[in-house]
Amino acid sequence: MDLKSLIRTIPNYPKEGIMFRDITTLLADAQGFKACIDALSSKYESANIDVVVGIEARGFILGGALADHLGTGFVPLRKKGKLPGKTIGQDYQLEYGVDVLEIHEDALEEGGRVLLVDDLIATGGTAEAGIKLVRQVGATVVAACFVIDLPDLGGKAKIENMDVPCHVLMEFEGD
Ligand code: AMP
Repeated sequence: MDLKSLIRTIPNYPKEGIMFRDITTLLADAQGFKACIDALSSKYESANIDVVVGIEARGFILGGALADHLGTGFVPLRKKGKLPGKTIGQDYQLEYGVDVLEIHEDALEEGGRVLLVDDLIATGGTAEAGIKLVRQVGATVVAACFVIDLPDLGGKAKIENMDVPCHVLMEFEGD
């Protein structure tokens, strides 16, 4: 199935010069969404994952489905001020801005095996913050997966340099 053809590109969103790769068109397609989750989860069926950790907001949609597929729990990483319990936070630089990502400090077991998921990896700043948070609460990031990689921005290489193998379903040139 050609999943790439289900991604919609919106030029100059949210800022001039950004080619926004919109996965909502993929999610809305029943066969496409299923094929996407099958393709991501099949990599990790024997990886003994304990928890899927998803990054707000599109990582929640993919992460929930992945956790269901893998028979694991799900833990959200959220933008600042959204989680109700005690949190720890990590600053990160976005392709188009700066933000803070947070995790509940008691969300993961010490030594728990985590699969990190988001829709897209660009510069890798968001995923890097996510890995740091998971590590700060004592769990292990076994792998990270994304629907889309923008290889020209180097994020996947950056994350692999943190000893976290990455799996992506497709690439788009440029940013
Ligand atoms: P980065 O931290 O630079 O790897 O950016 C990844 C995060 O920003 C992900 O959560 C993406 O959803 C979002 N993002 C960055 N660039 C784009 C883009 N060109 N199209 C869609 N989402 C993007």
